[in-house]
Formats: sequence, C-alpha cells, structure tokens
Amino acid sequence: MVFAKYLKTELEALGLEEITLDENGYLFATLPANIDKEVPTIGFIAHLDTSPDMTGKDVTPRIVEKYDGTDIVLCAEEKVVLSPAQFPELLNHKGEDLIVTDGKTLLGADDKAGIAEIVSAMAYLKEHPEVKHGKIRIAFNPDEEIGEGAHKFDVEKFGCEWAYTMDGGEVGELEFENFNAAVAKIVFKGRNVHPGYAKNKMINSSYIANQFITMLPRSETPEQTEGYEGFYHLISVQGEVEQSALTYIIRDHDHVKFENRKKEIELLVNKINAEFGEGTAVLELRDQYYNMREKIEPVMHIIDTAFTAMEAAGVKPNVKPIRGGTDGAQLSFKGLPCPNIFAGGVNFHGRYEFVPIQSMEKAMKVIVKIVELVAAK
Ligand SMILES: [Zn+2]
Repeated sequence: MVFAKYLKTELEALGLEEITLDENGYLFATLPANIDKEVPTIGFIAHLDTSPDMTGKDVTPRIVEKYDGTDIVLCAEEKVVLSPAQFPELLNHKGEDLIVTDGKTLLGADDKAGIAEIVSAMAYLKEHPEVKHGKIRIAFNPDEEIGEGAHKFDVEKFGCEWAYTMDGGEVGELEFENFNAAVAKIVFKGRNVHPGYAKNKMINSSYIANQFITMLPRSETPEQTEGYEGFYHLISVQGEVEQSALTYIIRDHDHVKFENRKKEIELLVNKINAEFGEGTAVLELRDQYYNMREKIEPVMHIIDTAFTAMEAAGVKPNVKPIRGGTDGAQLSFKGLPCPNIFAGGVNFHGRYEFVPIQSMEKAMKVIVKIVELVAAK
C-alpha cells in the first residue's frame, strides 16, 4: 500500500486521469484517447509485490555502465559475484547498462521494471501527441507472487477489451500459454500398535505413502521435464505410523493430458484402497488455474499486434510456453484476455537478479508501438 500510494502521486503528477487506488492495493489510471475514432480500450498491467523467496527490504541498486563481459562483484565482503561462468546470459548484454543488486537483497525488477516501462510509456505518449492512440488503461496490482494478483482485480472497472501484463523475462518474450494446474493431497491412514506386539496388526502408513510415491513415473517430475512436458511434483511428505500425507502439484499445458494426470492419481488411490482396505487413502483434488491459450485463441489478433509491435521496435519475438501460471491467465478466465510481454529482467527472485536499461527501453517502445497499431487499425 505504501508503494501504491507513492506511485499514485507519480501518476497524478504525470497528469493521468481516473486514478483510483482501492482498499486491496489495486491502482488503476487512464491515459485518455487523443483521437475521435472508435478504438478499443486496451490495458497494461504490472505487479507491485516482489518475490517472498528473498528479502526486498532496503534494496540498494547500482548501475554497471557499458558492461564489459567480466565478473561483477555484487558484495565484496560476502563474496557475492555475478559471473558469466554461472550466468552466461550476461554476455547477451555486453556493452549495455545493467542494474544490479548489492548482493544482499533481490532487485525487484520483477516486476518494478514492468511498472517503470508502463509509466515511462505513458509519459512518452503525453509528450508526443503526434502518436495517435485510443483510451489506455494501466493497472498495478499486489499479490502476484503468491498467485493471487488476479483474485481481487476488478476487470469490469478496468474496462478494457484486452490487456498485456509486462512481467516476462528476457527481451522478446511473449507468452500466452501456461500450465493447467491442480493440487492433490492424499492422506494415508495406518494402525499403530506397540512394535513388540505388532505382528499382523500394525499398518505403517508411511510405507503405504512410500509405495504410492513409487507408483508415479519418476521421469514425469519438474527436474526431468521441459517445454510442453507436464509433471507430477511431490512438494511435501509428512509421515508417521498412524497417518501420513503426500501433497502433489499437477501441471500440464495440454488439457486432455492434464485431466488424465488427475485420473491417474485417482486410479492409484483406488489401487491402494483395493490392496489395504477402503478408506486407507483419501484424496483431495483441487484445480488451481488453467492454460490461457483457449481464451487467447479466439482473439489471436492481440498476439499478432504484440508481434508486429516488437518487430517495429527492433525486437525479435520469442514465443514460449510458461512453465507456471500468471496473473494474465487468471484474468483471461475472468474475461480479460491478457498475454504476457517481457519486462527485461533476468535471474528473478534472488540476489543475482539484474535488468539491462536497454531492455527496459525496448519494452517501453513495444508498449508505445502497440497502442499506435491498435489506433491505426
Ligand atoms: Zn513477476
């Protein structure tokens, strides 16, 4: 809220209109159209929060000008070094100006880079009335990093035909496919008896849980999959004799395969119950989010526009499936088609996070080009 309130004053100073900040921390604003022609209202969205994986308190960024391709010492006393040996992607940004951390916090380019790009694009459009555009809405929301950025997002109030989140990584990234996602919790019931008198009486639920684990293919796990390959991810194991529990997250881009994965879990739970007695294993299965592709496909022109805008800004589009979820996916299912565009940051969620200033400039240009293209149609 502190950040949102500060940002609100910045948007006011910029002369934007319809600026609202609700009690949940959702900040909206409008750049009015500068043409009379009917043009679809579109939006740009970035998130205010940073990852809880590493502290974002007292971030002290530093700019490494004209990066020369060598090691960057982030923190000498703690020997934290950002090196192309571990992060070869650094070399793609030789000669550019990199914003880096002091090695003690994350940078927060995810997603403050997105915010800066959107605000800069609005400032640019204000200063350049010769660039014709329709009504533009912008939104900054909390809670993306805990998967809830879309939960309290008032899509109706935002009032856009479609929008883009500026929240991707490297220059050129354009994403409109993400995982279908579910979570499964399986509780196994055992029977505890004094181990000295346990013969033919004790049932150790930990062994049953272990048996269940080995029934799922070891190769269909996050550490052994990539691209469009889905997985079962065992995220938690709790076990005692009397009761044990396993929690899995299930992910797949393909809807049919996703449903089959959930059926497979149900089937294995039934197998356990057939072997050890009804009620031994109890399954709780819940869907979390879905692949936005099905909501984007009917409006593919919004991807085409982003593509054309990137090319016009001198950026090579790089479409790839997200191996996770995004706010945009949930917004798409709430009726606001919302693909994701790069914000330029690299090595998110940790002390090695950095963002090249030139990447942010490119993202800003893509925003300007998109609004120009939409108005020209
Ligand atoms: Zn993000």
